[in-house]
Amino acid sequence: MIIELDIKSSSKKFSVNNVFCIGKNYVDHIHEFANPEIPKEPVVFLKPNTSIIKNNGSVSVPELEGKKISNDLQNEVELIIAIGKDTYKVSEEKAIDHIFGYAIGLDLTLRDIQAYEKSKGLPWTTAKGFYSSCAVSEIVEKREISNHSSIKFSLDKNNDRIQFGDTSLMIFNISKIIHYLSHIFKLVEGDLIFTGTPKGISTLYSGDKLCAKLEDLIELNITVE
Ligand code: MG
Repeated sequence: MIIELDIKSSSKKFSVNNVFCIGKNYVDHIHEFANPEIPKEPVVFLKPNTSIIKNNGSVSVPELEGKKISNDLQNEVELIIAIGKDTYKVSEEKAIDHIFGYAIGLDLTLRDIQAYEKSKGLPWTTAKGFYSSCAVSEIVEKREISNHSSIKFSLDKNNDRIQFGDTSLMIFNISKIIHYLSHIFKLVEGDLIFTGTPKGISTLYSGDKLCAKLEDLIELNITVE
């Protein structure tokens, strides 16, 4: 299945390959948990690209045998990097050249399941990669962003601002993330990279309306089912 995203002000489409995610990349978010620890290297996990939902889509907690598997679905608004060309072992200086554009997204998380997985030393795949866990807006091309080191984004829940982010506050900035991932994996055209959430995570309930914004360029509206 090919997942295609719209590109703002273009008739072309962006075909998604892998979805990488960086965890624990903002100090204020790390302090929302017990035993906060600043990572020395980026924390990396993946979501299946079939977990993507788009603007005006809805997120729901999976059900197994008629019962929801989690009671704690949470929001994480994040800037997304869209990779524009295949990239293996790129320097920090040249990293920006490999970006096609940016999007705004929600790394939707089953926090109770993640806490259980963390406590047992298990992978986070169920908590982070379930179907509909990956909300992604249209893509804005790189040239529309004036200052790559301070991109601002936000999340409103039911018209209240609950998260505000500025990429200048990242522990690992955009160039460092691309440099790191390109040395350990391989980045290819179509990859998306979620870059971490600032503080403001919260439990979501059926009927909640989420509106994520990337500067004044893009909006992503998602409903909780
Ligand atoms: Mg996240």
